[in-house]
Amino acid sequence: MENYRTYLTEEELPTHYYNLRADMEKKPAPLLNPGTMQPMTAEELEGVFCSELVKQELDNDTRFFEIPEEIRDYYKTFRPSPLVRAYNLEKVLGTPAKIYFKFEGNNTSGSHKLNSAAAQAYYAKKQGLKGVTTETGAGQWGTALSMACAYFGLDCKVFMVKTSYEQKPFRREVMRTYGAEVTASPSDTTEVGKKILAEFPGTGGSLGCAISEAVEAAVTREGYRYVLGSVLNQVLLHQSVIGLEAHKALEKLGVTPDIIIGCTGGGSNLGGLIAPFMGEKLRGEKDYRIIGAEPASCPSFTRGKYLYDFCDTGKVCPLAKMYTLGNGFMPSPIHAGGLRFHGMSTILSELYDQGLMEAVAYEQTEVFEAAEVFARAEGILPAPESSHAIKATIDEALKCKESGEEKVILFGLSGTGYFDLLAYQQFNDGTMTDYIPTDEDLAKGLAFVPPQPEEK
Ligand SMILES: *Cc1c(COP(=O)(O)O)cnc(C)c1O
Repeated sequence: MENYRTYLTEEELPTHYYNLRADMEKKPAPLLNPGTMQPMTAEELEGVFCSELVKQELDNDTRFFEIPEEIRDYYKTFRPSPLVRAYNLEKVLGTPAKIYFKFEGNNTSGSHKLNSAAAQAYYAKKQGLKGVTTETGAGQWGTALSMACAYFGLDCKVFMVKTSYEQKPFRREVMRTYGAEVTASPSDTTEVGKKILAEFPGTGGSLGCAISEAVEAAVTREGYRYVLGSVLNQVLLHQSVIGLEAHKALEKLGVTPDIIIGCTGGGSNLGGLIAPFMGEKLRGEKDYRIIGAEPASCPSFTRGKYLYDFCDTGKVCPLAKMYTLGNGFMPSPIHAGGLRFHGMSTILSELYDQGLMEAVAYEQTEVFEAAEVFARAEGILPAPESSHAIKATIDEALKCKESGEEKVILFGLSGTGYFDLLAYQQFNDGTMTDYIPTDEDLAKGLAFVPPQPEEK
């Protein structure tokens, strides 16, 4: 019998990030300057992001970027991450399918986000910057960034969505322990925050709003840049380490997946997991079914529109063409399962639009039911976000049970759920409810989408 866990050695850690865009015939749409409606130039972006990351953001052609030794050394403190054969889950489900998951929760931040935080902190330090600013929703990204900043010696300012700030005080303390300054958003420390507070007094905040504040805090401070934990091309590039490791580990086992599944918030863990596999698919070497799993309460792929939109509520960011619910979309406050961003990675949006991947949406109670099945079978307490991928995996595995097909399913277990116990409490108490936005709710969010550029 194959081992439960397949580890690569440190020597087998990827030496290069893989840039999926290089193999896309039709490239993801460029970021636009909302003032001129022209593609953002490197110069414009360098006011907000650090230079090396701007290069990575705009580069659609370079297939591999070398991972600097300093980043690889840091990766060795928590990578390679294990590829796990979910024997126990298979048994519980009674499925002939073989289920594997790539487990990214084995670091203090509890998620895959540290992969990109490490790279972003390193490049900021190398440029001689003093610090970085960012937003965090559930808190995983802020935690990951504060860890990476502590390691590379950078100041870190985190704007944390107010509802999370109040509901997840422990997450805040982890960030502070790593030296980050954490501010509840919206706050009166930025102009855009003051404006949002005046317009929506008592608001619990949103990711889009915290992004606006973090960008303002960066551009108004000497020696600071803004960093983002998902959505951007550079983040998917860094996250390709997940897929590269998974690909190599499966190769060692002599196994080829039929279906690859991940949850999608902004698209970074799925984009990273599928990168080398999608590359093979794009080059016509292999074929895989690829599925993104999202919440029915924030259904960017399944009910959003493929449009240019702002990534933030304050409209200070460039326009990105993506599957979006509109920057005016406010997810229901009863939604506890994460993945609340209104938009989606432009890379995944383009792949989805071309029919190269699928998407499914789940209600939160069924997601937590899947989380419970998984936790009891495999022992790991999954993040609610990751549990969307678990739900999709269980559904596919049960289809195999019906048809008798022995498919191989690979899914991304993006993180652990230790800081999501309020949501688990609601589920265990039976007080968790589902809210699916009506078409009217969605129309409201889309009302704020800017006029679209003319088709060329
Ligand atoms: C942030 C996060 C996600 C969602 O972000 P993506 O960019 O879509 O990957 C998923 N899972 C966990 C554990 C996260 O922390």
